[in-house]
Amino acid sequence: MCGNCCSGPPGYVLVSDEELARLAARFRLTTAEFEARYCHRAEEGRSLNEVNSSFGRDCVFLDRHTIPGKAICGVYEDRPLQCKTWPFWPSVVKSPSTWAGSKRTCPGIDHGKLIPVEQIRIQRDAIKI
Ligand code: SF4
Repeated sequence: MCGNCCSGPPGYVLVSDEELARLAARFRLTTAEFEARYCHRAEEGRSLNEVNSSFGRDCVFLDRHTIPGKAICGVYEDRPLQCKTWPFWPSVVKSPSTWAGSKRTCPGIDHGKLIPVEQIRIQRDAIKI
């Protein structure tokens, strides 16, 4: 609920066709309507839009209002795989130094319950970034 990985410098949140269909259904929109309203084409692929905030560029679904002082995902159950698998992306778990580098900007890394390595491998292998 810090919102750190959903905000900051400009970035991208990739959305697959399946994810697009789920998100569109959530808003009772067609996929074309959802895409036109909430997505854009980034160099990396179809991405969720961002909006300006005092924290930088927020994901269009980052909700800073419902819980004062917290930043929550407004589409949590249907959030894209990129969000679900953070911080176990290949680029982050590649080495102790890449992990330490991500830890500098993510207050959640190395806190909370211990995740079994098998589960980390599944998440790492599910995403390409
Ligand atoms: S979809 Fe949710 S978890 Fe993913 S970046 Fe947006 S607010 Fe964050």
